Amino acid sequence: MNTSANVTPMMAQYLEIKEQYPHALLFYRMGDFYEMFFADAEAAAAALDIALTKRGKHLGEDIAMCGVPVHAAENYLLTLIRKGFRVAVCEQMEDPAEAKKRGSKSVVRRDVVRLVTPGTLTEDSLLEARRHNFLAAFATVRGESALAWVDISTGAFHVMPMAAVKLGPELARLTPSELLVSEAEEAELRPLVEEFGISLTPLSRGSFDSAGAQTRLTDLFKVGTLESFGSFSRPEVSAMGAVVDYLEITQKGKLPLLRPPNREALDGNVQIDAATRRNLEITHSMTGARAGSLLSSIDRTVTAVGARLLERRLASPSRALPVITGRLDAVDFAVEHTRLSSDLRDALRKVPDLDRALSRLSLDRGGPRDLAAIRNALGQAGVLSARLSDAQLPQLLSEAARGLSGLEELLALLDVALVAEPPLLARDGGFIAPGYDQELDEVRRLRDEGRGVIAGMQSQYAEETGISSLKIKHNNVLGYFVEVTATHADKMLNPPHSETFKHRQTTANQVRFTTPELTSLETRILNAAGQAQAIETRLYGQLRQAILDKAPEITRLSQSVAEFDLATALADLSRAEDWVRPRVDMSRTLEIEGGRHPVVEQALRREGAPFIANDCLLSPEGEDASIWLLTGPNMAGKSTFLRQNALIALLAQMGSHVPATTAHVGLVSQIFSRVGASDDLARGRSTFMVEMVETAAILNQADDRALVILDEIGRGTATYDGLSIAWATMEHLHEVNRTRALFATHYHEMTELSKRLSGVENATVTVREHEGEVIFLHEVRMGAADRSYGVQVAKLAGLPDSVVARAREVLASLEDNARKGGSPKAVIDDLPLFAAAPPPAPAASAKIPEGLQALGELVEGMNPDDLTPREALEMLYRLKDTA
Ligand code: ADP
Repeated sequence: MNTSANVTPMMAQYLEIKEQYPHALLFYRMGDFYEMFFADAEAAAAALDIALTKRGKHLGEDIAMCGVPVHAAENYLLTLIRKGFRVAVCEQMEDPAEAKKRGSKSVVRRDVVRLVTPGTLTEDSLLEARRHNFLAAFATVRGESALAWVDISTGAFHVMPMAAVKLGPELARLTPSELLVSEAEEAELRPLVEEFGISLTPLSRGSFDSAGAQTRLTDLFKVGTLESFGSFSRPEVSAMGAVVDYLEITQKGKLPLLRPPNREALDGNVQIDAATRRNLEITHSMTGARAGSLLSSIDRTVTAVGARLLERRLASPSRALPVITGRLDAVDFAVEHTRLSSDLRDALRKVPDLDRALSRLSLDRGGPRDLAAIRNALGQAGVLSARLSDAQLPQLLSEAARGLSGLEELLALLDVALVAEPPLLARDGGFIAPGYDQELDEVRRLRDEGRGVIAGMQSQYAEETGISSLKIKHNNVLGYFVEVTATHADKMLNPPHSETFKHRQTTANQVRFTTPELTSLETRILNAAGQAQAIETRLYGQLRQAILDKAPEITRLSQSVAEFDLATALADLSRAEDWVRPRVDMSRTLEIEGGRHPVVEQALRREGAPFIANDCLLSPEGEDASIWLLTGPNMAGKSTFLRQNALIALLAQMGSHVPATTAHVGLVSQIFSRVGASDDLARGRSTFMVEMVETAAILNQADDRALVILDEIGRGTATYDGLSIAWATMEHLHEVNRTRALFATHYHEMTELSKRLSGVENATVTVREHEGEVIFLHEVRMGAADRSYGVQVAKLAGLPDSVVARAREVLASLEDNARKGGSPKAVIDDLPLFAAAPPPAPAASAKIPEGLQALGELVEGMNPDDLTPREALEMLYRLKDTA
């Protein structure tokens, strides 16, 4: 843009700064507002629904402008970030008075202090307390890749080597809000990344350069070599380096307190791909919200750090037996020690979010409340420690308990230094407790009790001079002064008093004086407020530093708090929901008695309905792969049963008790879950293709420790295609993958497979038919469903009786015909006419007239089992239209 000629100095400055941030909205600080201009103003006004105005002209055109008040800026920031904007916050870097001194045309110095992006938020109001906010970077060096991720609001920093094909599943696991990639890879990765709703930020090659990264990282962690944290591959170093580089760019050099990078093992966790996560609604429900997910239904944690730990564990269940056992021991301990556990929870409830307070302090974006948060947390740590002193803790908890102590000195300091409830901002003052700093106490006394101090001086002067009527007064001209009546003037104007009292003014009846002491007192009173503020700011800095010096210990404390919170929360859940400790071992069994689906069970309970518990027994000897083929009508509970078993395995391996009467889980390495296409319509894709791609992924990847859940695979295509695909898939799982699997289908033909494949068993969800109505029993039994109940389900869904009666007729003819080996076409030709109520007495020999051929075709193409109630209703309308 043209910055010369008739541009005002302020506009010139604006344009110069804006030029450096072409991809962000520039929040340009002017007094109490952040103003936006030109296209930024137009975009922001629309996004924020605020007024768009004008301010002067630029090159003959009006300048569009809008603004938000600084004190309310966080809310506006949040809206903009959610809508996909980035915001460069540009502050005034000096007092406007300073600028004036330089000349009337001089503009206040301004600079961008921070670039706000989805992955770099730290404000509580911009973050979800119970979720991590990850910024990730994906790097590729000579065909090898790695992913690094960081939560700058907590300091957590992780990295792992990763094949490029694993990027999707890892993004699904971590759900970062922003991903950094090199410009070269942007185009290729954009579709994948955007599918997950993640904001993609391309960075130049330099940001990913692994040599530069090495330096950036060693500087950041103040170590000579990165080897101190383990040995990292070049792509790993490059990914970590990109993260740090981006933090330098966005935080303008102020780096958050990052923990040393933690290297995650590739095979440490149960592998769960994106489709499976979506399907099982582990941390997000189908709608993308936390509500309705497994996570939200089991979360009883009482601290933000505990909630985030639960999310991490649930998103990444372990594959290491000792880890799982250690966590289960911790939950058991908390279950057995009810009283202790409830005392601990009471104390935990009062622990504020340590990690986020610490991170804000490190970025110098914190305030007195963050100091108080640390103090309160340290105080509660003492309470927890004391309560645990004579407990025989299992290993995980005894390690955690050690992290609760060791910060007593810091606590003592904060305790004496801070008031109980400090204000949000340091500049508001008033957060340092009385008695902590003598100088501060004095200036505050001057400020608050100025009059009292003066009253004290008045009596002192009266005594010294022997003039009892002497007064100290104040006016705007003289400030504070000593006043005596004219009768005492001589005494005051002569030695010795004239040495102390300087004459200032004589009025008709009074004479006024000042004293050096009074003048200096006055200056001190006037400055007291300012001084108090300056002292508090200095003390704030000292306390902040004292906290940052203990950052590693504080981080350890917060991990301990999270561990205790999680163990006691899971114990609470187990007791309240009647869960049990699963037996997890290296067998290949999945044996669950009385299993329940935790989310469905809770939903039914709210409606006052019972959940029917069911058993599952795969690979009973623990050796041979085994597969259950589950048949039964729509709505019987097949999907629920399938998912509950996967969820139980997942809960067990994250180290939780499970919703069952007994559970034996042979270690699961991968979980796959797929749902047939027609259940997935909401995602609006070429559904059958997606279904097949996802199924192929399972067949190609599942190992012999995988657990596979297939729900109506193959239904996205015509009957025979679908059946054949389902059939072949099942054979492959059994013969090649040799996995444990649960397979729900409405293709009754598939029940034949149990005769051919040794590991396949038939199971069915039972229903009872009573006077033509189906009653769902939701019980899973061995054996095949004897028939389908699609028509009865349609009736339940509210289809008119006449249609249900007609559908029964059609079905009976079709079934009868099928038994005789005829073609459906022949049946249609032979079907009696449909008539609305009252149902006609069937005239078996009636023929469909020519004009109703279309109706026949419709019915032929219809498979009641395939229809959802809604589709059945649509079909009804079409039938009616055609007739
Ligand atoms: P399907 O997959 O066979 O069509 P779903 O698993 O979707 O059936 O279950 C349909 C409904 O039946 C669920 O929404 C739930 O309300 C109820 N249901 C399923 N399983 C049970 C159960 N074990 N006990 C009680 N109700 C159940």
